[in-house]
Amino acid sequence: MRKFPKPLLVMSACLDLQTVRYNGEVVKDPFAIKLREYCHVIPVCPEVSIGLGVPRDKVIIQKGESLRLIQPSTGRDITQLMLSFSKEFLDSLEAVDGFLLKSKSPSCGVSNTKIYKDPQGKEFYGRGKGLFAIQVLERYQLLPVEDEGRLKNKEIREHFLVRLFAIADLREFLSRAQDVKDLVEFHSRYKYLIMAHSQAKLKQMGQLVAEAKKNFKEALSKYGILFMEALKRRPTKGQHANTLLHIMGHLSRALKKSEKEHFYSLVESYKAGQRDLYTLLEIIKSWSYRFDEKYLTHQVYLEPYPNELNVIQQ
Ligand code: SF4
Repeated sequence: MRKFPKPLLVMSACLDLQTVRYNGEVVKDPFAIKLREYCHVIPVCPEVSIGLGVPRDKVIIQKGESLRLIQPSTGRDITQLMLSFSKEFLDSLEAVDGFLLKSKSPSCGVSNTKIYKDPQGKEFYGRGKGLFAIQVLERYQLLPVEDEGRLKNKEIREHFLVRLFAIADLREFLSRAQDVKDLVEFHSRYKYLIMAHSQAKLKQMGQLVAEAKKNFKEALSKYGILFMEALKRRPTKGQHANTLLHIMGHLSRALKKSEKEHFYSLVESYKAGQRDLYTLLEIIKSWSYRFDEKYLTHQVYLEPYPNELNVIQQ
């Protein structure tokens, strides 16, 4: 059973943490509620933090020459207040592994925030992001930053979780790594997860690890960046299928022909969208335990985040 790191996760406070919504309510999102059991949560409500009360009149985003945050009922332009708060809050974070924000919000929305042409919010311009979320995305380009709306999509949610737990593991590793042996051990646990995301980065990182002796500290910090860059893009089904076939190379001598054929047919049906990856990973995991393939049982790819987070119905 894998021991998971506890990610440091900034979460919009209205996701059932504090009664800070404009109407004094909270949003009960099952995934956000479950996820916080596995994380150290840092709550934030940018609107309450800049002095807007609860309850409060709504604010909107207006697209002029730039995006403005306006409260139509009072005519207040609170753009500068929000920008200053965002900077101050983000500066104050010592370490963080990801952000889960509230969708559609003019402050927190990572997606689907309504943008208006006029300060009264009558003429619809389009959809975009909230002002606080924009500052987060600009500053933390290598961290997972999502809102609960986007995480209703299973693939986006899985990718968010993979990155969140991997980056938390990386942070803990970087704080305790002593020598090249530690780096080799960490890199080998992540080999197949990185391969699924980017073969090119895996090669680059392999070279870096091989030469890490020359300047360990520098290699470590370069490794951290490459690691986060590698995980940034969501793998395709083809990339996962290719990784599964590589993994099968460790098991193929121990398996019967019929078992292998069955597994390969499952990989094909996964590629065709008829099976999920989780099923295939569980089969590999069982075989790895059965044949005592320690190199595989240690692979993060087989269980990148707690399985309990896989079964949340959205
Ligand atoms: S969406 Fe953001 S600003 Fe709005 S209530 Fe929630 S935490 Fe506060």
